[in-house]
Order: sequence, then C-alpha cells, then structure tokens
Amino acid sequence: MHPELKTVIELHQLDQRIAELTAQIDALPSQIENLETQLSQFIHAHEERQQRLAKNQKERRDLEADVQAIQSRISKHKDQLYEVKTNEQYRAMLREIEGEQANIRRIEDQILEKMIEAEELEKLIREAASRLDAEKARVAGEVKQLQSLRQADVEERERLEKQRQADCATLAADVLDLYERMRRARRGQAVAEVREGCCTACNVLLRPQLFNEVRGNTAVLTCENCGRILYYVEPAPVDSAEAQGADARTSA
Ligand SMILES: [Zn+2]
Repeated sequence: MHPELKTVIELHQLDQRIAELTAQIDALPSQIENLETQLSQFIHAHEERQQRLAKNQKERRDLEADVQAIQSRISKHKDQLYEVKTNEQYRAMLREIEGEQANIRRIEDQILEKMIEAEELEKLIREAASRLDAEKARVAGEVKQLQSLRQADVEERERLEKQRQADCATLAADVLDLYERMRRARRGQAVAEVREGCCTACNVLLRPQLFNEVRGNTAVLTCENCGRILYYVEPAPVDSAEAQGADARTSA
C-alpha cells in the first residue's frame, strides 16, 4: 500500500477514536451530576419526612395540651355546678360542659389522624434510613468508576493525539491539506472504503479506470462524487464464493 495512503487511513481511524473519546469525556460530567442529583434528592426526601414527623409530633403535643386545658375547665365548671343559684344557671353550665366535651372529641379525632400520619412517616423514615448508606455507597462507587473512566479516556486521547501529530508530520503538505479539508467538509469522515466498485460513503459507482487504480492502493485518490480519499480492502479469500462473484462482476 502507498505509505501516505496507509498513514491517511491510520489518521482517519485515530480521528474517529479521538472523536468517540471526546464525546465520552464531554458526557461524563453530566452523568456524574445525574448520579449526585439522585442521591441528593433521596437525602432531601428523607430529611423532609423527618421534618414532617417532628412537626406532626409538635402538633400532637399541642393538641394534647389543648385537651388538658379543656378538661381542667370542665372540672372547674363541674365544681361550679354546686354553687349556681337557679335552674337556668345550672342548665347553662351543663350546656357549657357539653360544648367543651364535644371540643375534646373533635380534638381527639385530630390526634388520631396525627398518630396515623406519624406511623406512616416513621415507616418511610425507617426504610429510607436503612437504604441511605447503601445508596451513598452506590453513588460514590459509580461516580468513582465514571471518574476513572474519564481519566482513562483523557490519557488515551492524549496518546492518540501525539500519534496523530507524528502521522501528520510524515504526510506531504498537499495530502494533509486534502485530508483536513475533507474531514471538515464531511463531518469527520475524510476517508471511504471502496466495496464492489462503489464508494461506501456516498454509494456512487466509481468509473472502472478509477476503480482499478483504487484497487491497487498505490496512490492517494479521491471519490469523484464526494471527494473522500478512497482505499480498497481485498475481500477475505476463504469461503468467499459470493465475494468472488462480486469481484468478477466489478472487474468485468
Ligand atoms: Zn464518495
């Protein structure tokens, strides 16, 4: 194979791998951020339930204090029942007591609601607490893995970029310029394999004379349609009745 064509193909493979690595490297910070967001949402929900439970317990204590205050008022009223002078006053006092007792029943219903809510919260809090350490460890492990993957990607990319520079230095200026121009024009794909007489990038059939030249891989040649640098890979000889058929057709 023509040495510059060989270098151009290698350059193409390097650039594709560098592009892959760059995409991975660029995607990793947001993957790490997603994991950390998952964990902080988990912790936030856990803390929020703990706050709700504390609030629930405070409200329940306040309601219980209200009940006690009402009960002491009722017993005071009951003492006063013996001091009233008229039936009318007596009935009024009884109504007062009944009203206070109704208040107690209403507040006791509220206390029961608070207790049910507290039980549910306590259950969720216990579950989250038992999972919290495992969740933290999972996220820390995954973040560490992504960071070391990123580090490996960065190192591989540096190594490939050095190799790229070395390859570029061996190319003639016009070949390097052609490669770079096509790379910019063709979204990173400056090189295309020719298969069965066609450019595999744009699918256009090569003129037979050009195809014969490309098959030899003895020069840096370009597709007349898309402008990419062309190369040819001999089909594998084993078990290749189909490939030979294709070969016969294309060389005919
Ligand atoms: Zn083409």
